[in-house]
Amino acid sequence: MLPRIFALFLVFLLPLSALAKTYDLLYRVGIDPDTGLAEVQIELEGDELPRELSLNLKSGRYSDVHSEQPLELTDDRAIWQPGGPKATLSYQFEIDKKKGRHRYDSRITEDWAILRSDKLVPPIAATAAAGLRSRARLQLDLPEGWSSALPYDKGDAGHYKLIDPGRRFIRPKGWMIAGRIGSRQDTIAGINTMVAAPLGEDIHRQDTLAFLSWNLPELKKIFPEFPDHLLVVSAGDPMWRGGLSGTRSLYMHADRPLISGNRTSSVIHELVHVATGIRGDGQSDWIVEGLAEYYSLEILRRSGGISQRRYDEAMEKLARWGEKAPSLLVKRSFGPITARAVGIMRELDREIRTASDNKASLDDVAQGLAEQRGEVSLKRFTQLAEKAAGTRVKTLAPEKLGKMEQAGKKKP
Ligand SMILES: [Zn+2]
Repeated sequence: MLPRIFALFLVFLLPLSALAKTYDLLYRVGIDPDTGLAEVQIELEGDELPRELSLNLKSGRYSDVHSEQPLELTDDRAIWQPGGPKATLSYQFEIDKKKGRHRYDSRITEDWAILRSDKLVPPIAATAAAGLRSRARLQLDLPEGWSSALPYDKGDAGHYKLIDPGRRFIRPKGWMIAGRIGSRQDTIAGINTMVAAPLGEDIHRQDTLAFLSWNLPELKKIFPEFPDHLLVVSAGDPMWRGGLSGTRSLYMHADRPLISGNRTSSVIHELVHVATGIRGDGQSDWIVEGLAEYYSLEILRRSGGISQRRYDEAMEKLARWGEKAPSLLVKRSFGPITARAVGIMRELDREIRTASDNKASLDDVAQGLAEQRGEVSLKRFTQLAEKAAGTRVKTLAPEKLGKMEQAGKKKP
């Protein structure tokens, strides 16, 4: 029997190993505070390279795109045919970008730069032979005295080893910081966690790390697939005065408290976004924001950060605020809409617990969404809730979500 099984293995294994070709993909990034630009080179090297790469330049922050290999530039795309064994494409990236009139969500100063690496390297669609894989690294070329932090492991040569599960053409993603920076690092619930910010700014790195060490373990129980790296970057004015989640990372303004006046936590809120990786369709943003806000209180309660009494009070306040939202089914969820969505999440959690004899909860629904990631819809959310409850759920009935605004409108 054994030799036959072994032969079967060979039949399956040989073609796979023959197909699994790999090429090296190196992102070389130079950051120049004088020009405010990043000089980016994408270098491919290997016996076989992708036939074509299509870079999405829509954000308009890229210039001087060039290569010695065939390259076609349109308004918002660069179509590049690399051709082996070694090919390079270069461009410049404008780091400063405003969000709102006076605030930045990407910024370079004389002393530091905070930006998102998935903007630095735009979305790239690759046409390549089946089985062709990239081994991707990112190498930073920084001014003297500067250091950097990205949510990836570092190799011996000082480069970052990029991963992007499920993607064949790997590119860097998430927040990054470079400059004269201070950082604190710890492993929390198996997650390599780092808090980094420019030196000299009044930033509570240790407090933030301690806060994460109480709350990340509870988050990881709900989302066991949470990334193995977490980078929290922070800075003061004129950076964006809120929190912004990214892949394996988040940005938080230095003035934001770890727990707000209404007892929710912006840090945990953004962490839930990092964990779920979901976005709303035209009317499901309340699910994305409602879950993040609900768990920003719920995780604090579970970690002992707030008592049951203070938790109940906070929930009541949110419910009162939520009465101001006529409907949940809008494009962008904010303020009272998210507050009302939190109430729905709490009610749904109770309904699932009652229906399942306490065997399931909203945690199962959140986990299901995080496994699929991407765009979420009310239909998908309801399916997961009913799967957890083992029966139909009443909490997500249309009248509960306030369809008033939709009445009379034809469905597309
Ligand atoms: Zn949010």
